[in-house]
Amino acid sequence: MNRKLIKEFEKMLGKNRVLSETEELLCYSYDATSKEFMPDVVVFPLNSNEISDIVKLCLQYDTPIVGRGSGSGFSGGSLPLKGGVVVSFTKMNRILELDEENMFVTVEPGVINEDLKSYLADKGYFYPPDPASYEFSTIGGNVAECSGGPRALKYGVTKDYVVDIEIVTGEGEIINSGSKAIKDVSGYNITQLMVGSEGTLGLFSKITLRFLLKIGSNSLILVSFDDMDKGVKAAIALLKLRNRPSMLEFMDKFSIESVKNYFKSDIIKIDGTLLFVVEADGSKSDVEKSVAEYSRVLKEFSPISLFIANDEGEKRVIMEARKAISPSLRRYGSLKINNDIAVPIGKIKNMLFYLEGIAKKYDIPIINFGHFGDGNIHVNIMLDKENDDMIKKGEEAKRDILKKVVELGGSLSGEHGIGLEKKEFMKLKYNNYHMDILKNIKKVFDPQNIINPGKIF
Ligand SMILES: Cc1cc2nc3c(=O)[nH]c(=O)nc-3n(C[C@H](O)[C@H](O)[C@H](O)COP(=O)(O)OP(=O)(O)OC[C@H]3O[C@@H](n4cnc5c(N)ncnc54)[C@H](O)[C@@H]3O)c2cc1C
Repeated sequence: MNRKLIKEFEKMLGKNRVLSETEELLCYSYDATSKEFMPDVVVFPLNSNEISDIVKLCLQYDTPIVGRGSGSGFSGGSLPLKGGVVVSFTKMNRILELDEENMFVTVEPGVINEDLKSYLADKGYFYPPDPASYEFSTIGGNVAECSGGPRALKYGVTKDYVVDIEIVTGEGEIINSGSKAIKDVSGYNITQLMVGSEGTLGLFSKITLRFLLKIGSNSLILVSFDDMDKGVKAAIALLKLRNRPSMLEFMDKFSIESVKNYFKSDIIKIDGTLLFVVEADGSKSDVEKSVAEYSRVLKEFSPISLFIANDEGEKRVIMEARKAISPSLRRYGSLKINNDIAVPIGKIKNMLFYLEGIAKKYDIPIINFGHFGDGNIHVNIMLDKENDDMIKKGEEAKRDILKKVVELGGSLSGEHGIGLEKKEFMKLKYNNYHMDILKNIKKVFDPQNIINPGKIF
């Protein structure tokens, strides 16, 4: 890296907001993928003007810039693939404005999802997007990846809450994408273009979000089936109800096996071929009615067990079991290819059978769980990191799976984004004409290709 550029950053931001020593840079060289790329320098802006100055300086030095929240991404979005400058948003972590009259909150991008949730909860409000990483991921990262979680079924994902973003473009210009007006069709919808743009179109300096009123109460049902067909039919029957569940999570037989051996509980039984966690929420009486209705529907498909959790302890145990899936997988391999595919609900059964077939074809463990109600399956291909042959088989299995997803009319990624991890597969879904449209959109916001180059395409 050009020492002169580092000196300029130190002059601009002060030495304590610029890191350039190897041991400091290491902390910004990885995310939740197992890949590592060293940045040349890390800078910590405090506002949009500083971000704009950083971008303009990088343009002069033709140096790439990568935005970084907490670095918890699963697709390599925050990795500085070509070195250059990492812009860390961790010091931009203030809640700027609570507009209770209109029910909007404006935050800096480095606010942690959980901090926003609890700030609003204390005032009787609810911010729904709930990625499993909510305790440590940032709102900026959530917006850039359009993150979602179990409650997306009823409450949607991040895109359903973002109304306005202040963006510093690849030319260092500052624009606002939307407004607080409920109806807003003035021009193209730049807000939604930014959501899920994986840090490639600009750097977000301020984000305005909708929020809801706090939910009264909830109950969980843990239900399992010994037959995949029956289980899938039962889940689809729940989704066809006027009063749908707020959450419909599933574990396949391999996840069930994995959790059973890892998570011990006297309260719940993890068993069967297909298992679901179903949530009902709302007022106390609504929850009672929903639980009765869901139980009735589920029983029509002869589950092998059905447990209703009303008290906090029982609900916690169920959610802990759900959370235990990922750590429990370690015994199946030292390397995980983590895929978050999404297919139309009516195709989940085809996909699950296909995944079983692929596991057999390549003779590797493939363990599946996720958000049934959104058709979003977390496919975990478990490998030995010392075994090159097995890794090759894992990569081939990944390609087969993504091809099948496209054939079934699904999406390469439901939550984690394309980043580095899936960019070579974009052509499975999009032709050259479509890819050119994406590249041309990027050029409009970042003509010199300095914002997060090498991601998505
Ligand atoms: C244990 C675990 C569980 C997870 N569970 C879920 C889950 O349930 N659902 C889900 O969707 N994801 C999940 N994730 C993935 C990850 O947490 C999300 O993608 C999250 O939104 C990333 O936030 P971050 O702050 O860590 O962003 P980073 O990883 O730092 O960055 C992600 C992307 O956002 C860009 N970015 C960050 N800040 C800005 C900004 N201010 N302006 C422009 N671009 C920016 C980066 O350049 C990068 O491209 C999980 C990850 C882990 C490790």
